[in-house]
This record gives sequence, structure tokens and C-alpha cells, in this order.
Amino acid sequence: MRLFLLIIAGFTWQGLIWGQRCATHSVFEHNATTYPSYGHYVNQAFDEARQWIEQNPGVKSGGVYQIPVVVHIVYTNATQNIDDSLVYNQIAVLNEDFRRMNADTINTRNEFLPVAADAEIEFYLATTDPNGNPTTGITRTAGSPAFGTYTPFDDNVKFDSLGGKNAWPSNKYLNIWVCDLLFGFGVLGYAYPPIGNVPNWDPGVAPANPGKQGVVIHYAVFGRNNPNATGFLEVVNRGRTATHEVGHYLGLRHIWGDGDCTQDDGIADTPPAASDAQQICDWSKNTCTETPGPQLPDNIENFMDYAADSCMNMFTQGQVNIMRYVLENFRQELVGLPVNVKEQQVALGSLAIYPNPVNEVLNVHVFNNNLFFTQPHEILDINGRILIQFNGTKSQVSHLPSGMYVLRIHTNYGIVIKKFIKQ
Ligand SMILES: [Zn+2]
Repeated sequence: MRLFLLIIAGFTWQGLIWGQRCATHSVFEHNATTYPSYGHYVNQAFDEARQWIEQNPGVKSGGVYQIPVVVHIVYTNATQNIDDSLVYNQIAVLNEDFRRMNADTINTRNEFLPVAADAEIEFYLATTDPNGNPTTGITRTAGSPAFGTYTPFDDNVKFDSLGGKNAWPSNKYLNIWVCDLLFGFGVLGYAYPPIGNVPNWDPGVAPANPGKQGVVIHYAVFGRNNPNATGFLEVVNRGRTATHEVGHYLGLRHIWGDGDCTQDDGIADTPPAASDAQQICDWSKNTCTETPGPQLPDNIENFMDYAADSCMNMFTQGQVNIMRYVLENFRQELVGLPVNVKEQQVALGSLAIYPNPVNEVLNVHVFNNNLFFTQPHEILDINGRILIQFNGTKSQVSHLPSGMYVLRIHTNYGIVIKKFIKQ
């Protein structure tokens, strides 16, 4: 009964049919109400990403990130136990959309072409399971949801003990659960946004449970041309629900900011909107006045709106910058980048590197007289390969190709990771 009331609190029944197509924001609000620190840390992650983007306008990290994916198919009947071919074409859709190689980029309107961007993020089905054994990257589980269906609020699909399937380590894999969501009443998916990399996290705070990190998609809209995407689901039959939810997972918000014209998504190059696109393709939709201009229509072709799948076709450069920042700072291990750990917090405040971006010489500055280096510094590329080792406080980097790098500094307070851009 509690579960039922929670659903009513989060949605209206009309919303269940369509207005709440994606439950990410409702789930966030539910968790932020239940666990106030959760809301704080999610917002902190977003604010940190947004501030970095604002302070580094136009900076694009170099290199393509590749994310291993495990798809957990959790079914209660044969129809929900969808075919492998739908998994393969869903991965293909993600790769097309995140690389801006989707065939329908030709439908992006002229006013959005200058900001439409390739995220340089790719996805592949995991080839090694958590035990180091070969895998197809697909698991199949006969589920037993307590409520007869899975819901965004109980997250039962994510736990063996609750009739679902446990996550694979969510720091190393993007977990996507495919299941019946609310009997297909219009909630097509939800995702957990990144949580700020903060010290003193209370391990008892439930939403921090790494076993919940990932994306859940209704089985009937997973993959392109899913034969179950019939009736009112026909408009969402191109696999874009997963594109949208992975966007949330990588830190993006809805382009209408889940509110009126004063509610922003925090991204400068998506024009404000007062409402979502309502699963249709209304190219004349323009709900807000841009100040300052130029005047732009609502960006209904954005993957983070709710237009029909057939008229979604783009992310903006601002959205791409946020997603890459999230990968580089909050989901590093997914793409093989080194991770900050708690002990580094003291040392982090004791060190600075400059200039950043850098052309010639990278300098390390120490503010704290009690800090000393315990071994040579290392410069790594985004794949974690060590390219340069040096002692002292300076390194020539002019020979490095342009792109994003990591400086690893070993100190008596622990290891410090600093990212920099080589111009
Ligand atoms: Zn959404």
C-alpha cells in the first residue's frame, strides 16, 4: 500500500499515461525528500560540472570514451524476455546518437546546427563479467516483482533479494535493466544521476547504494522497432528512451528544467522551454522568450525533451561537455580513468597546477609546507597509459597531442589526481 501511495504522490494518473514518460526527475525528488543529503550531493555534482563548463567555454576534451554495458533482462513472461537482436540494435542506436551518426541528423533545424554535437561517447556490450569470465553482456532473469510489475520507486528490479537482478559493479559497468515498468502505463524509463565525489558520505544513505546506479527501460521500448512498441508506444519505437535515460545517467536534465521558463537545465545552448514536447513533433513550439536573444524555438529535437522518437536527433555541445565532465569526474572507472579517493582531499587543497589549458610547460605549485612528494609525478592519457614521469615542479608537455590528460601526484597525504587540457 505504501508503494501505491508513493506512486500517486509522484504522478497523476493522467501523468502515468504520458506526462511522466521518464521518471528520472520524480525519482530524484522522491529520494531527495527522503534523503536530503542525496539531493544535495546530486545537485553538487551538477553544479560542479556546470561551473567547470562555464569557466572553460568551448573546451572539448579529445578522445572517444567507450563504456562497457551489461543489459539485465528481467522478465515475468516470454514477451518481456526480449530477443538478443533488440539488445544489439539498442547498442547501435546509442552509438549512433552519442556520435551524431544517426541518419536523422538531417532533420536538425538550421538554428540548432551550430550547437549540435558529437559526444564522442560509445557503448559496447561487456565482454568480461565481474569474475573475469567471458560474457555476452546480457543476463536473463525470471523476475518476481512484489507488485506484479516493477516501479521506479521500489527499484526492486535491481536486487536479487527483491525479485530482480543484482547490478554488476556500477563503477565498472553501465547497468541497464529491461523489465515491465508499471505495466507499461507510460513510464518508459528512469536513471540515477551522478552523485558528487564528496568525502564523509554517509554509507547508510540508501540512494548512495551503488547497486542502484544505472538505467531502467520498459521492455516494450528497448531497441529499435521493438515489436511490442504498439498502440500509443508506436511513437517511441526507435530506441530513443535509452538515449534519453543514458543522458540523465551522464548528468543531463530535461531541457525544460522540469518547470516553467524560469527553470533552466543549467546548459547555456539549450533554449529555455516551459513544457515538454508531449510525444509529438510540433516544430512551431516556442514557449519562452530568450533574454538575451536571438529568439529560438523550443529544441524539441533534443534527446532530453519528450518529442516522438522520430523527431529527436541531437545533443548540444553544452550537454556534451556536461556528460564528458561527469565521465571524467564522477564515473571515471567506467572509462578506465583513475579515481580520486577520500584520503586525497587534504592533498587536493594543497596543490595546484598551472596553466590549464597548457601549451608548453606544466607547473605544480605546493601551498602546504608539510606536503612532500613520495615518488615521481605521472602524466597519463585518458586510457590510463603513463606517458611522462617527472620529479620536481615542472614538466615539458609541448610534444603531447591536444586533448585531456591526468597528472598523478604521489604525496605523503595520498595520491592527487589533477586533470588538464593540452592545447
Ligand atoms: Zn527524462
